[in-house]
Amino acid sequence: LASGGQREVKTTCPYCGVGCGVIARVAADGAVSVRGDAGHPANRGRLCSKGSALADTLVPEGRLLHPEIGGPENRYRRVSWDEALGEVARRFSDTIARHGPDSVAFYVSGQLLTEDYYVANKLMKGFIGSANIDTNSRLCMASSVVGHKRGLGADAVPGSYEDFECADLVVLVGSNLAWCHPVLNQRLLAARAERGTRIVLVDPRRTDCVDAADRHLALKAGTDAVLFNGLLAWLDSRGHRDAGFTAAHVEGVEEALAAARADAPDVATVARRCGMEEAEVAAFYAEFAATGRVVTVYSQGVNQSSQGSDTVNAILNLHFLTGRIGRAGCGPFSVTGQPNAMGGREVGGLANQLAAHMGFTAEEVGRVGRFWSAPRMADKPGLKAVDLFRAIEAGTVKAVWIMATNPAVSMPDAGRVRRALAKCETVVVSDCIRDTDTGRFAHIRLPAKGWSEKDGTVTNSDRTVSRQRAFMAGAGEARADWWIMTQVARRMGFAEAFRYETAAAVFREHAALSGFENGGARAFDIGALGGLDDDGYDALAPFTWPWRTGSEPQKRLFGDGRFFTADGRARMLAVTAKPLPRVLPDGALLLNSGRLRDQWHTMTRTGLSARLSAHAPEPRLDINPADAAARGLVDGGLARIATAAGEALARVHVTDAQSEGAIFLPMHWTDRFTGACVIGRLIDDGAVDPASGQPDLKRMPATVEPW
Ligand code: SF4
Repeated sequence: LASGGQREVKTTCPYCGVGCGVIARVAADGAVSVRGDAGHPANRGRLCSKGSALADTLVPEGRLLHPEIGGPENRYRRVSWDEALGEVARRFSDTIARHGPDSVAFYVSGQLLTEDYYVANKLMKGFIGSANIDTNSRLCMASSVVGHKRGLGADAVPGSYEDFECADLVVLVGSNLAWCHPVLNQRLLAARAERGTRIVLVDPRRTDCVDAADRHLALKAGTDAVLFNGLLAWLDSRGHRDAGFTAAHVEGVEEALAAARADAPDVATVARRCGMEEAEVAAFYAEFAATGRVVTVYSQGVNQSSQGSDTVNAILNLHFLTGRIGRAGCGPFSVTGQPNAMGGREVGGLANQLAAHMGFTAEEVGRVGRFWSAPRMADKPGLKAVDLFRAIEAGTVKAVWIMATNPAVSMPDAGRVRRALAKCETVVVSDCIRDTDTGRFAHIRLPAKGWSEKDGTVTNSDRTVSRQRAFMAGAGEARADWWIMTQVARRMGFAEAFRYETAAAVFREHAALSGFENGGARAFDIGALGGLDDDGYDALAPFTWPWRTGSEPQKRLFGDGRFFTADGRARMLAVTAKPLPRVLPDGALLLNSGRLRDQWHTMTRTGLSARLSAHAPEPRLDINPADAAARGLVDGGLARIATAAGEALARVHVTDAQSEGAIFLPMHWTDRFTGACVIGRLIDDGAVDPASGQPDLKRMPATVEPW
């Protein structure tokens, strides 16, 4: 829209998985302001502190403006795009020729747009011939993907945000919704004010969600699966099974119940194992049983665990047993961390997936290969994030291209990641910021467009696909990630298959592939948009998938009781809760890590806003008063935190919001801001969910002492 020298552009917020619609206004003098888009289904005009401060971050400071070759250690020279792209193509082609396709890798990001992700996957899995492309979504949602596939037959969130508003009970599990998905929390609180929605918080920490919660179950870290197994057994023993639903639509009921009964036979056992009062457990169980419309929301407290996948299935089991799925106000609900974690999964962003939610069966490899006319299809899963960086350290992966992410900070055992990158023959980093902790290891740096400059689509937590639209020119010589990869692919000899000139062309191919040979068997299908023209793409309004050819977009799934398994029946999984993955020595505390309200990832964007930084200007250690007193720590002092992996320094915050025996540190600080508290240096990479490959980032033994 344009009037009086001003322009207004509808786009989406680049931060969390709520995926809020934003209207950016560019004044005649170029000044930018943002407001929430009242027409967007995710936020209906609301924005949180981060979204409201987006205009503050549109500054040139720190941008990578030109391609650079050189390094590491900052000895870089500016080069032309042609030289940089040629060098990337030459190095990758040479490495593949000498050592084979599995000697190279891409590590990508939920910050990429779907079109970027699609091109990266196509290049690696169809043309290089390896599946060594993994994403920082491995640290975020991989366990939910596994749980969804095992239970629902597909990685498909069953409901929509509207279910938060028509539920009578919302159970928040390991989710600080108030800080990590603030607009969704605002919607929940508005519904609560209007209709009295009850809220139960299941979290060892007393987060800001407590203020609105009717019940806070401060269970011991790592015991969620015990709590839910106990609830499953309890519900069945008291006649709350929906026998009609389970008989018609669910497999594995008896096996799951047998495991739950063995694991958590009664309320007393659950209370003892979870460190709670029996009365608290019993009251929660009774409330769940008595409420017809229940949404169970879960996030990183569940996913970032060495038993995250099983905990997801323990949650799904409850909804299958009681038939609380496929109806308004019911269902399990995974809220994703990143703006496009879902979009990445849709194009096969994980090393164990192919595009359009396909896997590595011979049939699916053949189908994708036919669609792409791929010369060299990967036919087996590639290396997941932790194994990928270990392989770089071991020298079996010799060239890596890292896009829009900062693993030298965010990966567990960041020290290993740094050692690996330091010895890697070729490190390419595409980013919009020049000096990141990871970028310091690059041999080639490629300037990528950032939010406000790039065009494409993203998918939020409730399967809503939205356009992210450009309203500013790229800084310096920055280019779109899909363009950069397309240019490299052409120089590697794949010009015919990478002819895209626009993001719209990439989207059309992605949509067409999702509908290719898909008669409704695969959940992800937006084949109806395979013929969208450029104007249609520009004007594309938010929609939910699936949107199959000849039908309408589908908001709520499974209303007909048909799931995406081969026989159409949901699967309950037998879950046995496991002990903590790491031994806790005497006197040690359990280190939890996570987000702050006003920062995002490694602060490359939010760190530019003074008002966002004012919320927490330095890294802060949350510790319970009893634990602080026992260690001589005082509020406002400094503490040294040590683990088997490394050390950090943080300001002490004594608070009874933190349960005894555990501490909390934010995940955001980097060497670029202060090297004193880099979370990845404190957490080892030895505790990983065996099914999903997702590392446990929340339960690391640590000692704390005054500094
Ligand atoms: Fe952005 Fe998430 Fe805030 Fe919405 S809730 S404005 S998507 S950070």
